[in-house]
Amino acid sequence: MKTPMIKAEDNFVALLGTKGGPSIRTGSTNPTSNLLVLNGQQIVVDCGLGVTRALVDQGMALKDISLVFITHMHSDHYLELGPMLHTAWTTGLKTPVLIYGPKGLEDYWDNFLRSMKADIELRIEDEGRINIADLISFKILDEGSIHEGENLSVAVMRNQHPPLIDTFALRFNTSANSVVFSGDTAYLPKLADFAKDADLLIHEAMLGEALDALFKRVGNTDDRLMKHWLQSHTMAADAGKIASMAGVKTLALNHLIPSDDPDFTHDHWRNAVKPSWAGKLYIGEDGLRISLD
Ligand SMILES: [Zn+2]
Ligand SMILES: [Zn+2]
Repeated sequence: MKTPMIKAEDNFVALLGTKGGPSIRTGSTNPTSNLLVLNGQQIVVDCGLGVTRALVDQGMALKDISLVFITHMHSDHYLELGPMLHTAWTTGLKTPVLIYGPKGLEDYWDNFLRSMKADIELRIEDEGRINIADLISFKILDEGSIHEGENLSVAVMRNQHPPLIDTFALRFNTSANSVVFSGDTAYLPKLADFAKDADLLIHEAMLGEALDALFKRVGNTDDRLMKHWLQSHTMAADAGKIASMAGVKTLALNHLIPSDDPDFTHDHWRNAVKPSWAGKLYIGEDGLRISLD
């Protein structure tokens, strides 16, 4: 079936990549990326591996990319930012793109441009393209409120994802809808205030009972990875708690840890959330589209 192109009246969120962490294996889902469409305005939130293909598969024309948010500087959230923008450029991007991200993201972009210098110069010279560098601009994400366009405001809250400090949750509001992304974060009760009465909370989640098996499979040299998970991420039941305290309409779990263990199914995730959240629940899957109408 042919995917319809995104229309001006569309309001939805598509979870494009829903696994936590940067690794991919046979059968695994993709690292984090999301497409948020509000009154037809298309906003990319995080750019993990696979984002470019997934946007196209949602019916987005890459040349229409105009607004991108990167929540923090872990590779599973920005590894494909450069390739996405470059591919948009070779697909006809001619209009400015604004990127909000933490300090350091612009360095990544400058170095990406440097790494692709020969190709970019060749395409400007040989194909008559405008310079990609002139199209892309960056603004540093920080706590507070930022506004974009007539019917969109974006609020930014620092979350808790050590050892990183510049790591953020995002709230997108229009007159009709509000959507909150937790970003990567440990259980953080003040996120419930930030997400108060939102239509949709997209919260990261870990399945506690599955972590031992995952840790054994990864096979790192010591227990630092397990410590990172426990200090820097949120158990599914606690994500449910945030949703309940905030009184959101719908909760979607993403950045799933683990994401590819056949011993753990959606039922396990649902059972983990059940004690703390009785409302509408989605368990993240790549390509899952959640309507906001
Ligand atoms: Zn992550
Ligand atoms: Zn992270």
